[in-house]
Amino acid sequence: MELGLQALVDLWDVDRELRSLRRELSSYPAEEKRRLERIQTLRQNAERIREGARELQTRLKEIESDVSSWKERIAKLEREAYGARDNSTLYAYQHQISSLRGEIGDRDEEGIGLLEQIQAREQLIAAEEAKIAEEEKVLAEFRANVAREKGQIESKVAELKKLREAKLDGVGATHLQIYEKMIASSDRQPLAPVLDRTCQNCFTELTLNDFARVRSGKVVVQCKSCHCILYTKS
Ligand SMILES: [Zn+2]
Repeated sequence: MELGLQALVDLWDVDRELRSLRRELSSYPAEEKRRLERIQTLRQNAERIREGARELQTRLKEIESDVSSWKERIAKLEREAYGARDNSTLYAYQHQISSLRGEIGDRDEEGIGLLEQIQAREQLIAAEEAKIAEEEKVLAEFRANVAREKGQIESKVAELKKLREAKLDGVGATHLQIYEKMIASSDRQPLAPVLDRTCQNCFTELTLNDFARVRSGKVVVQCKSCHCILYTKS
């Protein structure tokens, strides 16, 4: 392989590492945002369930208040019935008392149903709170890791940048110009080896002519399909 091309392959080794480190650095904010949003969603869920439980509690209090005033009413009616002068008055009292007792029975049933629903919601809230606590713990660990890794990555990047400067010296001007253009776009691969006369980036077959030119190592040959600078492994 021609000297300039080998230098370019070495340069790509450095740049590839730089690219992956930079990608890792830039992924942190999005990851943190995703985790914060997840916690926010869990909190909203818990709040919605809590709101539902509060409405049920309000209804339960109404029932308790109705029942206790009806009980007072019954006690009063019973006292009055005790002094009733005739059977028809007594019967009228008894009728009122028994219909109030019926109402109390209905409300008690409703109240028991409400209590069960409230308890079920409280369990759901506890489960949501546990999830939130877990997510917050994971977030705190994530932030601590990021703080640690960021420092390591940044010093590694500084090291690689120095290495890159040193590698640049050996690269021919024509190669470098095309290469720099290729790596400007962050997800593009600038170089590809040729194996079985096929570009190993996009697997397009080279013409015999192009293959011979690549093998000579004297000119820059780009893949017709993906535009990678081609080289043969010697
Ligand atoms: Zn290709």
